[in-house]
Amino acid sequence: MAAHTVYKEPAPIMDRENPLESMMSRFNIAAEILGLDDETYNVLKAPDKQVIVNLPVTMDDGKLRVFEGYRVIHNTILGPSKGGIRYDKHVHIDEVKALAAWMTWKCAVVDIPYGGAKGGIICDPTTMSPGELERLTRAYTLALKDVFGPDRDIPAPDMGTGPREMAWLMDEFSKTVGATSPAVVTGKPLVMGGSLGRTEATGRGVMVSTLAALKKLNLKPTDVSAAVQGFGNVGSWAAKLLFDKGLKIKAVSDISGAYWNADGINIDEAIAYKNAHNGRLEGFTGATTMDADDLLTSDVDVLVPAAVEDVITEHNARDIKAKLIVEGANGPTSASADPIINEKGILVVPDILANSGGVTVSYFEWVQNRQGFKWTEEMVTERADRIMNDAFEKVYQTSQKYKIPMRIAAYVVSIDKVAQTYKFRGGF
Ligand code: NDP
Repeated sequence: MAAHTVYKEPAPIMDRENPLESMMSRFNIAAEILGLDDETYNVLKAPDKQVIVNLPVTMDDGKLRVFEGYRVIHNTILGPSKGGIRYDKHVHIDEVKALAAWMTWKCAVVDIPYGGAKGGIICDPTTMSPGELERLTRAYTLALKDVFGPDRDIPAPDMGTGPREMAWLMDEFSKTVGATSPAVVTGKPLVMGGSLGRTEATGRGVMVSTLAALKKLNLKPTDVSAAVQGFGNVGSWAAKLLFDKGLKIKAVSDISGAYWNADGINIDEAIAYKNAHNGRLEGFTGATTMDADDLLTSDVDVLVPAAVEDVITEHNARDIKAKLIVEGANGPTSASADPIINEKGILVVPDILANSGGVTVSYFEWVQNRQGFKWTEEMVTERADRIMNDAFEKVYQTSQKYKIPMRIAAYVVSIDKVAQTYKFRGGF
């Protein structure tokens, strides 16, 4: 009996603003501006499909443990659904639903032919062995084999997953269909169909949209300072590429704390330090330490939150000094902070626009897999930069036309595209 004890992680209690409610409050404002009809509103306000799976996994100690996993398909009117898979002990179905809807809006805003989805498993990947993670990933893939597919639903990495998990997923899915199927998932290792330029794509998109926004504010990159919260994939690449463009990066942070240098941090040195010290900035001598929360309200021109959700709230928004916020993370600003930020006249490049460089290059990976042809890095970055700049301009012009913040403008652009497609396709 002991070897077969079955138990589930308890569902976490959400102690922050519900991301689904945050997403819906912005969606509602945009829907009203557009005069969205009731029928389309009702279709879009809820996901198309929500799948909950129980995943039995034999752990290294021989005991069987059952994990709860989710896949939420928000919408597929524009194409197969696309979205990452998160492994985290705080995964919550409402969060997955919000992230799935954000993927619909994100793909629509950059005009790529995908719908939106997201997945997650309640687990703590930091305490699991590679073998346990592999068995969990394969169990999840098998449970969702009828949901996933290159023309149906295409997963990708998110927090707690990376190229390794995507390789297992691709392998397991390929076995179930009896053919190698690289286009079922993106974010794969380069040797097995991953795309050049994917690793830095999200940070690069943050850099491109920051430069576009600075131009609108009549600011020269070399006259501007910035703070970047989070020094993982998105934060470190955004910081590095902005640093290369001449911005003075005065503050960076990770879970170990925040680091400040009024003369500017050498980001190449910070990345080299992090790589040599277990992926952490702790002990970095090119800056002094500062209170982690103070980074968000520090004296800089540009703020790039690139870590977790809900860090800019009604409690600290009033103290933000930056003129420009570029959201590398998904949902870093809670809805309750929006009116304060707008009142202060801060320009916000919202998450669904600013971090869409990642899904754009994921789309390129899928296209290359289907073409059976590999693009050069120049082709990838040139095309991705063009898409980011076009999307930025479209959202900016929409914000000017309706006299609304860029966040709501991004929703207006996306919802309009989806609603128009419903009208042409018909069929309710
Ligand atoms: P990573 O796990 O690579 O990096 C997250 C970073 O945030 C790490 O440096 C981590 O520190 C740090 N961090 C975590 N909690 C805090 C905190 N409370 N304060 C300060 N720093 C913190 O994730 P990604 O960079 O991939 O993702 C970051 C965000 O960007 C997420 O919201 C994700 O959904 C979003 N995003 C990512 C995309 C991508 O392509 N990767 C695409 C679009 C959006 P430590 O390393 O010390 O743990």
